[in-house]
Amino acid sequence: MHVLLIEDDVLLGQAIETALRRWGHTLLWMRDGQSGLSAAHAGGVDIVLLDLGLPGVGGLQVLKALREKSAAVPVLVITARDGLTDRIAGLDAGADDYLGKPFNLDELAARMRALHRRSLGQPKNLLVAGAITIDPAAMHVSFDDRPVELSHREFILLRALAERAGRAVSREALMRALYGVEAGAESNTLEVHIHSLRRKLSAEVIRTVRGFGYLLVGDKTQ
Ligand code: CA
Repeated sequence: MHVLLIEDDVLLGQAIETALRRWGHTLLWMRDGQSGLSAAHAGGVDIVLLDLGLPGVGGLQVLKALREKSAAVPVLVITARDGLTDRIAGLDAGADDYLGKPFNLDELAARMRALHRRSLGQPKNLLVAGAITIDPAAMHVSFDDRPVELSHREFILLRALAERAGRAVSREALMRALYGVEAGAESNTLEVHIHSLRRKLSAEVIRTVRGFGYLLVGDKTQ
């Protein structure tokens, strides 16, 4: 998933960044409330990890402003302010979950997965689109019940398409899923991965949407 981290603590931010990349997520890291809010409003984010104690615009203000515009994105508040009052204020302001510092990175991963699943309306871990079944936790893919071996990049790309199955996904969103915000230079690598996915799955399963991006055929059924 594409994660927006709003956190001013450099050491903690780096630890989260390293862990998220290792788990195959892409990350946009903003160190103050205002730029975090702008990034959240720009869209394309699957989950927001939000610190409350931020310079300038505070985390609670960010959360309230975010909820006024971008209602759907799940927000996990990560903060040292773990007193009951702050917790209630955070949940009242629209946080979906709350993790007190210091926390275990595995717990962060579990909470993120749970929130993401909930936001996709998926009670199970599996992502199913037509004949394709993806187990994001196990990084396993099958097509017509036959296991398919994918590279890490191919997996990220397929997952990004499957999460929006039946809908066109822009090149920009796919490049961001693959490479994070720094994307742009390697413009033809997306085509290379799409070509490879079509070869491994089926040519018909990924449609080119001219001038926009790609679409994975088949509705998301779970
Ligand atoms: Ca802080």
